[in-house]
Amino acid sequence: MPASIVVGTQWGDEGKGKATDYLADRMDFVVRYQGGNNAGHTILAEGHTLKLQLIPSGILYPHITSVIADGVVVDPRVLLEEVDGLAALGIAIDPSRLVVSGNCHMIMPYHLELEKVTERFLGKNALGTTKRGIGPAYADKAARIGLRIQDLFDEKILRQKLDVVLKEKNQVLTRVYGRLPITAGLIVDDYVRYAERLRPHVVDTSKLIHEGLRAGKNVLLEGAQGTMLDLDKGTYPFVTSSNPVAGYALASVGIGPREVDRVVGITKAYVTRVGAGPLPTEDTGSEGERLGARGREFGTVTGRKRRCGWFDAVIARYAARVNGLTELFVTKLDVLSGFETLKVCTAYRAGDEMFEEFPPNQSLFHDAEPVYEELEGWDEDLGRVRSFGDLPSPARKYLDRLQDLAGVSIGVVSVGPAREQSLTAKGGIAQ
Ligand code: GDP
Repeated sequence: MPASIVVGTQWGDEGKGKATDYLADRMDFVVRYQGGNNAGHTILAEGHTLKLQLIPSGILYPHITSVIADGVVVDPRVLLEEVDGLAALGIAIDPSRLVVSGNCHMIMPYHLELEKVTERFLGKNALGTTKRGIGPAYADKAARIGLRIQDLFDEKILRQKLDVVLKEKNQVLTRVYGRLPITAGLIVDDYVRYAERLRPHVVDTSKLIHEGLRAGKNVLLEGAQGTMLDLDKGTYPFVTSSNPVAGYALASVGIGPREVDRVVGITKAYVTRVGAGPLPTEDTGSEGERLGARGREFGTVTGRKRRCGWFDAVIARYAARVNGLTELFVTKLDVLSGFETLKVCTAYRAGDEMFEEFPPNQSLFHDAEPVYEELEGWDEDLGRVRSFGDLPSPARKYLDRLQDLAGVSIGVVSVGPAREQSLTAKGGIAQ
C-alpha cells in the first residue's frame, strides 16, 4: 500500500491536527517526520485537556502505531512527560504503539540554556523561537556533535560524547554569556533514567514502515509547521530549523519516493502567521482582527496572537509545486462567513515587476504588494453544512477559484473543528 504525506501549505497552524484526525481512521501508522516539541495539538479526553507537542496525534486510536522518525529532535524528558500525561487520563500506552527511532537526535539541557541566552543576546533581532532547544539540537546534528537516542544505551559512550560536547558548550556558556558551566554527571544521571523507560519504545522505524508498506498497511507521514517555515523552501531566516516539505518525509523515515502516492496540502481558507517575517496579504485593520477573532487565532503552544490575512494563491501554487501536492484539504471555511466581499491574492507586485510565482529572492518577497481579486462573500453559518451541494453558491465559487489558482483540486473542505464538519469532494468541486 502506498504511503500518504500530510503537509501544511502556509506558515503552520493550518489545522493539520484536524486533517490528520480525519485521515487517521484508515491508517495503521502515523509518523512524525520533523520538528520537535513545538507542534502543539490539543486532545480532549475524559473531560480533560491535554496538549501534546511531540507524540503524533494518532496515539488516541488503538488501531494506530505512532512513530517518531529519525528527522525529529526528541527531548526525552518531554516525551516521557507526554506519556505520563496520557496515562493520567487513563490512556495507557503500550510501548509497541509508540515507537521512536534510535537515530533521533536528542535535545539536551545545554540546548535549552544556549537558546535562552542567545535569544536574549540578540535582543530585538531575536528569532522569537519557542525556546525548547530545537534549533540548537538541529545545529549540533549538522555539526556532527549531536547525541542520539541510541547513545543512551551505552553509558560509557554517552559520557564520552557528552565530555567532548560540553568542553565547547561550557566555554561558550561561561566566557561569552557569563553563565555557570553544565556538568556531565547530572545530565548522565537524568538521561540514564530516561533510557530505561525509553528502551521498549526504540525500534528500527525505517524497517518497520518498509515492512508495513509491503504488508499492505496504510501509512500517514505527518509534517509539523508548514511549507513557508521550511528551512530551505520557506521565508528564510524566519523559518523553523528543519524541513516540513513532503520530500523530507522520505529522508527522515528512510523510504523511497515511489512509496508515496498521495500528498495532501492542508490549506487554511485565509492565512495566518506567528511572529516576525513577511506576510504580504496581512490585514492589520478590522477585517484581519475579525478573521483572528472568528478563527480563534492564538498559538496552541505559546498562546501568541497570530497575524491574519487573505488567501494567498502565490503561496498556494508554490506549496503545490515544492511538495508535489495531489490534493488540498481546505480548513476553516466557516470562519469566512459574514464578510461582504473576500479578497484573494493572485500575484505580487514588487518594484516594476509582477510575480505570479513565489519570488526567487528574499528582498523581492519583503517588498511584495498583493494583487487582489475580490469575490462575493456569504452570510450563512457553515457549521451545519454536511455536503458540498449545500454550501451557499458564493462559498462554492470561492473554493472553485482557490483550486483553479492553486492548480490542485480540493479533496476535503472543513467547516468546523468536529470530524463530521468535513465535506468530501468527489474529483474536485468544479463540476
Ligand atoms: P495545526 O497545528 O495545524 O493543527 O493548527 P492549529 O493549532 O491552529 O489548530 C487548528 C485549530 O482550529 C484547532 O483548535 C481546531 O480544532 C480548529 N479547526 C480545525 N479545522 C477547523 C475548521 O474547519 N473550522 C474551525 N472553526 N476551526 C477549525
